[in-house]
Amino acid sequence: MFTFDNTYARLPDRFFTRMAPTPVADPGWVALNDGLARDLGLDPDQLRGALDVFAGNRVPEGAEPLAQLYAGHQFGGWSPQLGDGRAILLGEHVGPHGRVDVQLKGSGPTPYSRMGDGRSALGPVIREYIVSEAMHALGVPTTRALAAVTTGETVLRQEGQMPGGILTRIAASHIRVGTFQVFAARGDEEALHLLLDHAIARHASDAEGPMGLLRHVMAAQARLVAAWLGLGFVHGVMNTDNMTISGQTIDYGPCAFLETWHPDTVFSSIDQMGRYAWSRQPDIALWNLAQLATALLPLMGDRDAAVVEATAVLEEFHGFYDRAWHDVMAAKIGLDDMKIGLELLDIMREGEGDFTNTFRALTVAPETARDQVMCRDRFDDWFARWQAMDPDRAAMARANPAVIPRNHRVEQAIAAAYKGDFGPFHALNAVLADPWTETEENAPYRTPAAAHERVTRTFC
Ligand code: AMP
Ligand code: MG
Ligand code: MG
Repeated sequence: MFTFDNTYARLPDRFFTRMAPTPVADPGWVALNDGLARDLGLDPDQLRGALDVFAGNRVPEGAEPLAQLYAGHQFGGWSPQLGDGRAILLGEHVGPHGRVDVQLKGSGPTPYSRMGDGRSALGPVIREYIVSEAMHALGVPTTRALAAVTTGETVLRQEGQMPGGILTRIAASHIRVGTFQVFAARGDEEALHLLLDHAIARHASDAEGPMGLLRHVMAAQARLVAAWLGLGFVHGVMNTDNMTISGQTIDYGPCAFLETWHPDTVFSSIDQMGRYAWSRQPDIALWNLAQLATALLPLMGDRDAAVVEATAVLEEFHGFYDRAWHDVMAAKIGLDDMKIGLELLDIMREGEGDFTNTFRALTVAPETARDQVMCRDRFDDWFARWQAMDPDRAAMARANPAVIPRNHRVEQAIAAAYKGDFGPFHALNAVLADPWTETEENAPYRTPAAAHERVTRTFC
C-alpha cells in the first residue's frame, strides 16, 4: 500500500526507539481521507481494507516503526526528554508529490510516555482531523489527517472513561525545534550534524549549513504565524517540541479560532499566563527560533562569530514577519494600507465584531458589514474612507473565508462522536473542505456560537 523509503530510520539508534504500535482490542473506522490518499498516490479502496494498519494492529510492508526522541521548552520551561509518548512513525511514504511521514498517534506506550498511557481519546483525534484538514483547505501549511479509527478500548481522562482513537498523521516530517534541542543538550555534535543534513535534505535543499537552515526555518515560521493570525487561529501550545522545521502547523491540542476579535484571546486551559495568546504568537515563534539557533550553535564554528551571525538572522525575523503580516492584512482588506487595516481590528475589538464574518461581509456584501459590529458610527466613518480607496475585492475573496472550524461546531462533532454518531463530524468536514464560498449547506456553520454554545476554554 505505502511506498516506504525510511531515511529517518537509517539515522543512528539514539535518534529513536524501534518498536511497533501496540495492538488494540476492536478497531473501527471513523474516517478515511480519500482526497489525501489520492494525492499521496494511494488507492482509497485498498486503504479502506487495511483498518488493522491504521489501528496499529498490523505493521504494513516496508514500514520500520519507531518512536522519535526529542526534547523541548514547554511554556518556557525546559524538558530534557520528551519524544513520541503516544505516537509511532511507520515510515516515509514516497508519493507523486514527494516524501511524507506516516505516523500513528494514539498507538500505545513507548519509552517516552513518562506518566502517560500512550493513547488518545477519540475527541482529540476528531479535533485534529477536522482542524488540520480545515487548515489545509484554508491554504495554511499543516500536517494532515489520512485516517481516524476507534480502538474498541477506553482511556481514562479528566472526564472519565472515554473511547479511544488513533489518528494517522501525514507530515512533511516530524522534525521539531526540540529534535535539535535534545542532541544539543546532550552535547552530541555528531547527532546534530546528521540531523542538520537530514533536515536540509528534506526541507531546505537550497540552504547552506546550520545558518542557512536557521534562516530558512525563520522565514517559514514567519509566514506560517502570519497566516495563523490572518485566520484568527490560536495554536495554544507553541512549545518548541510543537514547532516544526518543515514550517507546517503541528499539534492540534488546545487550538481554537477566535470569533469576536481581541488580541489577548487565549483558549487553552493550561495557558494561564496568556503566553500563547493570539497576538503573542509571532514573539513566541521568535523565542522558539532563538532556541533553535542555540541548539545549532555548536555546528556554526567559532562561537563568538556564530553568536553575532545567528543573532543577525533572528533579527531578520521581524522584517520577514512584518512583511508577511502586511501581505495578509493587505489581502484581507483589499488595500495596501496597514493603518486602515489595524483600525478595523480595533473597531472589531470595540464593537465585538466576529473576525471571520466582518472580513467576509466586507468581501461579499460590504453594505452589510456594519451589522457585524456594535460601534456603528465609528465603523461608518472607517467604511467611507475604506471604500473611497477602492479595495481589491478579488484579493479579499482569496483571503477571507466564509467558514472556519468554529469551536462550538468542533465540540458538537466531538460530543456526537462520543455518542457513536459521526454524522456531525462528516458534515463539518464536508463543509470545511470548501471554505471559500457561501452555500446553503455551510450557512449554519457560518453563524457564531450563541452565548450558551460559546467555547472559552479548551483542553488537550
Ligand atoms: P503535547 O503537549 O501534545 O505536545 O505533548 C507533550 C509530550 O507529552 C509529548 O512527548 C507527548 O508524546 C507526550 N504525551 C502527551 N499525551 C500523552 C499520553 N497520553 N501518553 C504518553 N505521552 C503523552
Ligand atoms: Mg506535541
Ligand atoms: Mg498534543
